[in-house]
Amino acid sequence: MHPIAVQTSEVLQAWGKILKGEAPSLSIEITRECPLRCPGCYAYEDGHLGGGVTLRELNDRKGQELVDGVLEVVDRLKPLHLSLVGGDPLVRYRELETMVPLLLGRGVHIQIVTSAFRVIPAAWAALRNLTVVVSIDGLQPEHDIRRTPATYERILKNIAGQKVTVHCTITGQMMKRPGYLREFLEFWTPRPEIKRVWFSLFTPQIGDDLPEILTPAERRRVMADLLQLRKVFPKLDMAPELIQQMATPPHNPDECVFALTTQTISADLKTKITPCQFGGNPDCGSCGCIASMGLAAIAAHKLGGFIPVGAIFRASVKIGRLRSNEPREQPPQFPALRVLP
Ligand code: SF4
Ligand code: SF4
Repeated sequence: MHPIAVQTSEVLQAWGKILKGEAPSLSIEITRECPLRCPGCYAYEDGHLGGGVTLRELNDRKGQELVDGVLEVVDRLKPLHLSLVGGDPLVRYRELETMVPLLLGRGVHIQIVTSAFRVIPAAWAALRNLTVVVSIDGLQPEHDIRRTPATYERILKNIAGQKVTVHCTITGQMMKRPGYLREFLEFWTPRPEIKRVWFSLFTPQIGDDLPEILTPAERRRVMADLLQLRKVFPKLDMAPELIQQMATPPHNPDECVFALTTQTISADLKTKITPCQFGGNPDCGSCGCIASMGLAAIAAHKLGGFIPVGAIFRASVKIGRLRSNEPREQPPQFPALRVLP
């Protein structure tokens, strides 16, 4: 699905769940393990789970216990969309091979976000309603340093025969070199294994001082570049409305339709990650997450030409909370567009 090509029926379905105080979208970190050590990875930051315990210290599950646990959570929360992330979810590829058909059989749309450090199961290429998102952070020289062992060479081997979505997180370092995004698209979009390409912007935690953070000028240049490049590369699957949302990220999680409508659960299948998939204390004002921008673009759409979807969702979240007596810090949550492993 295009990040903002949401059907009215999907909006209505999600709206119905929000009114009941339920979560239309769910993201599960199915494992604490990842063979990569990417600089700037939010999942392994000390504050990701709110302080105290870190993802690496959490008791995660394996084998049938993991399969049963995920099915139990999905049967209980009944999301419309489910993101399976980690760590790297392909660490548990055997369990995934078992659970994916069972989850699809329940009518859930699934997104698996991986570094493609190992072969994507061949059977997945034929499954409808399953999206495999592969994180590729820049051109080969930069990517291979950041994301070894999931190097370009390995990814190309491991996605053979698939139709994957490439997701690239744009960093300040990339934007120091003019033409970087075009070169990235020139490499990936001609390949038959690539269905579409998405870009996010690096999202820091409040107080971070990292070379990955984009300056305001670099952020504006990303927007100008993407608006131009989408006309040249049809696989760059980002509508102008979505790209334009990068200029006005939410001020805080209460303004973020993605955070309000997506529940994220960590590897023990209990710990809730708030306020959004980044956990900790994310700097919303610098956010460039494609999921947040995609839902902000949907929120700006007007149902019947009058009322913005976002206003309906926000009001409905309040009604849903009242009805379900859900505490404020456990908001009900919408679409699984979580795009970082
Ligand atoms: S692949 Fe994802 S989870 Fe693993 S270290 Fe990199 S960013 Fe973190
Ligand atoms: S996804 Fe939403 S809550 Fe999370 S950092 Fe971005 S704007 Fe903030």
